[in-house]
Amino acid sequence: MQFDLIIIGGGPGGYVAAIRAASIGKKVALIEAADLGGTCLNRGCIPSKTMLKYAELIDGVKKASHWGIEINEMNLSLDKMIERKNSIVTQLKNGVQYLMDKNKIMIFKGTGTLSDDKSVEIEMEAGTQKIAAHQIIIATGSRPVVPKIKGIDQIQYHTTDTIFDMQEIPKSIAVIGGGVIGVEMASVFASLGSAVSIIELNDRIISAEDIDASIILEKALRKKGIKIFKNTEVTAFEDFNHTKKISCMENGEEKTIEVDAVLLAIGRQPNLSVLGSSSIKLKKNHIEVDKYLETSKKGIFAIGDVIGGLQLAHVASAEGLTAVANLEGKKKEMDYSVIPRCIYTQPQIASVGYTEETLKNKGLKYRVEKSEFSSNGKAITMGAAEGFAKLYVDPIYGEILGAVMAGENVTEMISQISSYMTLEGTIDELAEMIQPHPSLSETLMETANSLLGRGIHY
Ligand SMILES: Cc1cc2nc3c(=O)[nH]c(=O)nc-3n(C[C@H](O)[C@H](O)[C@H](O)COP(=O)(O)OP(=O)(O)OC[C@H]3O[C@@H](n4cnc5c(N)ncnc54)[C@H](O)[C@@H]3O)c2cc1C
Repeated sequence: MQFDLIIIGGGPGGYVAAIRAASIGKKVALIEAADLGGTCLNRGCIPSKTMLKYAELIDGVKKASHWGIEINEMNLSLDKMIERKNSIVTQLKNGVQYLMDKNKIMIFKGTGTLSDDKSVEIEMEAGTQKIAAHQIIIATGSRPVVPKIKGIDQIQYHTTDTIFDMQEIPKSIAVIGGGVIGVEMASVFASLGSAVSIIELNDRIISAEDIDASIILEKALRKKGIKIFKNTEVTAFEDFNHTKKISCMENGEEKTIEVDAVLLAIGRQPNLSVLGSSSIKLKKNHIEVDKYLETSKKGIFAIGDVIGGLQLAHVASAEGLTAVANLEGKKKEMDYSVIPRCIYTQPQIASVGYTEETLKNKGLKYRVEKSEFSSNGKAITMGAAEGFAKLYVDPIYGEILGAVMAGENVTEMISQISSYMTLEGTIDELAEMIQPHPSLSETLMETANSLLGRGIHY
């Protein structure tokens, strides 16, 4: 069977690319080994955000008792939580299926393996089938890394592939890795009542983000009762009467942590088996692409987690759209300058553009201003006064170079800054813009005015 375009992988990279390609008249085949929606919908963004909403509600109920709202007893049904998560996933997956049908995209349920002649062999339940196309997009995503640590095979552990279908809430859990996924899951389990430990190799959690964000989040997680071991390397696992013994080196000293459950959250590796015997080049274990997202084989593109970089769903989708534009020979470069990065803990962390570290490494001149939510009326009414907004601007033209925020709803607020950056807006324009009162967004206006030396409340 011959197509204009074959897409391998139906995650947010692949399915979005498929719809755009079909809408410009391409005859598209999409091969998906498991479920439409990929990691994001089935085992990532959506299940984790569903559970984080539970965490927020549980914490909200606890907070309410300090405000005089007494709820005598709070009971959580794990079954109902999992059922709700499943129904949300099903609803969204049906939505993707509907869009596939509407756009007449032919779906092959099976595992695809690529050949250099732009044909793909699909292993399906019913047997093997070979299809071919003029152009191909590889969007096979990634899977959790399972480290080769002594004893790992002897214990039962979770990854994000299994944790969202857990049968019971563990009394205690160690989350190995204090990156975005690690801190989000640690936050969920602490709210569900588990005793949580985060074990992090680095000297701080969420080490890719601004240091102030790490500090405020660490403080909030500790307040929730989470133990955080930094500069700590896991050296061995052992199962002892269903208790997991974790041997670590913390700042050079041996330590043992005993828990009921272990969640590995140390990173993700690309799904490369799709490459079969093809000669597509790799770079640092990911598929190498040029700025147009074309691989070393002309007419074969790659997008999403499988090419590395920022492993985010919206990045995968944006890359999908860029790759489709380039199928027509448009030579559209993928633009990574305004990518929001969000962590959905409490407080939430959101950033976009350059971090201070990158600005310094690049030798770029900048001015920075930070305002705390503690002077913001809306934040105080919400009991969410812990947090800040920090802006980096070009000292000559006032262009916004980056932002980081910590606090309630900042994962929505960050899009204001993304808009300014996309439209090359300046700090003067942000300072002039009237924000509603009372709102958390007033903090952005205040930060901008402070940068210009005319702040009112700061
Ligand atoms: C717990 C967790 C929380 C996350 N939260 C967020 C978040 O809040 N926001 C965010 O932006 N990102 C989040 N992410 C990251 C996000 O899920 C990924 O960046 C995104 O799913 C990558 O999209 P993709 O299309 O590249 O790959 P994937 O979503 O991984 O999809 C790839 C698909 O390809 C299929 N496949 C693989 N090999 C083959 C083959 N040979 N043949 C056929 N099919 C194949 C797989 O079955 C899969 O369905 C989270 C991830 C995790 C694990």
